[in-house]
Amino acid sequence: MTGAASLGNEPRILVVEDEFNVAGALREGLEAEGYRVCLAHTGEDGFFQASNQPFELMILDRMLPGRDGLEILAALRRAGFLTPVLVLTARDGVEDRVAGLDAGADDYLVKPFAFAELLARVRALVRRSRGDQLLRLTAGDLVIEVAGRTVTRGGEPVDLTTREYELFEYLVRHKGTLVSREMLARDVWGETERCTPLDNVIDVHIARLRKKIDTGETRLIHTVRGVGFIVREGE
Ligand code: CA
Repeated sequence: MTGAASLGNEPRILVVEDEFNVAGALREGLEAEGYRVCLAHTGEDGFFQASNQPFELMILDRMLPGRDGLEILAALRRAGFLTPVLVLTARDGVEDRVAGLDAGADDYLVKPFAFAELLARVRALVRRSRGDQLLRLTAGDLVIEVAGRTVTRGGEPVDLTTREYELFEYLVRHKGTLVSREMLARDVWGETERCTPLDNVIDVHIARLRKKIDTGETRLIHTVRGVGFIVREGE
């Protein structure tokens, strides 16, 4: 069944959480951000829904009655379930993180968490879920061919290092929205320790990108002072 009456393009999220108040709060908050949310209060129901409906993201509580969230996840992955999964957990140890990743989690959030942080993770994972299908990205006269990882501007090839390419592709995928240095540290550098100061490294890479990409009159990469960067066309 699909919600024919809705606009139909909202990202769909399956929330598997046995605590009704937490599940309800998640649904309310996510729906306010424009997501469509389905709830499952047991691992078995979560497994069933995940196996029978398409979702862009699954948010999975680890501590569930009956089968543990990670058991459910491992079983889904063995069955070929490719949807990104964000695991919620009350535990925060190295072994727990490794167990989560081994079971097939894409990201991990420790309870209690700030809703804004959950949203940031959700946005990144949903984008990945959708963006993997986008093979060509554009910004003005700039074109990225994702499969070949090539960049051209005005038809001229732009030679980027691997890291520069990853950074730039990320910025262009977020075209028109502000990207913080924290997002770049996490999603491009894979740095999960939020206190690690990567700002200088990021700024150096941005400066190099600018020299290679923004050589003409029309700049694409803009700095939002104290916050981060935004790719905009036509300025
Ligand atoms: Ca629980």
